[in-house]
Amino acid sequence: MTYSVMLPWQTAEWEHLMAYVQQDRMPHALLVYGQQGLGKQYLVQRFAHFLLCLAPDKKNAACGHCPSCLLMQAHTHPDFYFLAPIEPSEIISIEQIRVLLQGLSLTSHFNLYRVIIVNQAHTMNTNAANAFLKYLEEPVERTLIVLITDQYTRLPATIISRCQKLPVMVPANKQSVSWLHLQKSEATVGDIQTCLSLANNAPYTALTYLTDNTLSLRNACYKEWLAVAKQQQHPIIVAEQWIKLTNVTIVAWMVSWVIDITKFHFTITPQHLFNPDLNNSLQAFAKQLELKELIMFYDLLLISQQRMVTQINNQSIYEEILIAWLNLNSAKKHDS
Ligand SMILES: [Zn+2]
Repeated sequence: MTYSVMLPWQTAEWEHLMAYVQQDRMPHALLVYGQQGLGKQYLVQRFAHFLLCLAPDKKNAACGHCPSCLLMQAHTHPDFYFLAPIEPSEIISIEQIRVLLQGLSLTSHFNLYRVIIVNQAHTMNTNAANAFLKYLEEPVERTLIVLITDQYTRLPATIISRCQKLPVMVPANKQSVSWLHLQKSEATVGDIQTCLSLANNAPYTALTYLTDNTLSLRNACYKEWLAVAKQQQHPIIVAEQWIKLTNVTIVAWMVSWVIDITKFHFTITPQHLFNPDLNNSLQAFAKQLELKELIMFYDLLLISQQRMVTQINNQSIYEEILIAWLNLNSAKKHDS
């Protein structure tokens, strides 16, 4: 990847980075943060390519063919370091930081900048964070460390306070839709909108959803959720199906469905729903279910979401949710 193109929603962030260069006030440490799926890593990689390029073009992009650019493209640039959590521990360890700091004690190869990217910086364990902090107290000249995180609050306050901060913003819906349309011209506007909504308006996540089978899985799960409410499917059987679906956030989907049903108890237009494509179906639930009971069910979903982080067996959680959902719906049928 050459990173020649700027992501259309990152103009302000890019100008902010350019100002560091133009005003000669490059920070030692920069913290780039924002929700998942906004292209934070792309932004930072593009900046690294630019800083290390020997002959950037007039549009402030790396030239793509100088010796430095070629080394970057081959992932062998001696002045560029990329740190990320290592599987299976999924943490950034003290060893990784030590190797990095040893590298920084040597002089830079091209005598330009040295750039270190620490992706998922919040996964540094305490020892790694402490070693890193020591470095930040005595940084090396012309060396830029960029921390990237989508979980800002999990970083130690001592590290945050030593970094310049650059938040990456969620783009306007219109901008995301036109970008996604360029990436996936065969996708319908309806699917694009639904995927954006499922992705909390993060374009990269929405693109993943358009490419993989997330949308069809979500639709299948919604059908099963509907079938449980109508007593056409047994909650235990559905829970058994759902447990097999790893890497999808069924509870988060249910949260969004319940929020949308709740919205129908107030005046709402479809474009303000999380799930505009399920408009009619969700509205039908709103007519049947009482607000108080919906809110209790919503609470159960939020608690379940927390429990799923720590608990290994999610089947019992799904069972509890689906039985509560069944009871909520069948209770209403008895009343009417
Ligand atoms: Zn170059």
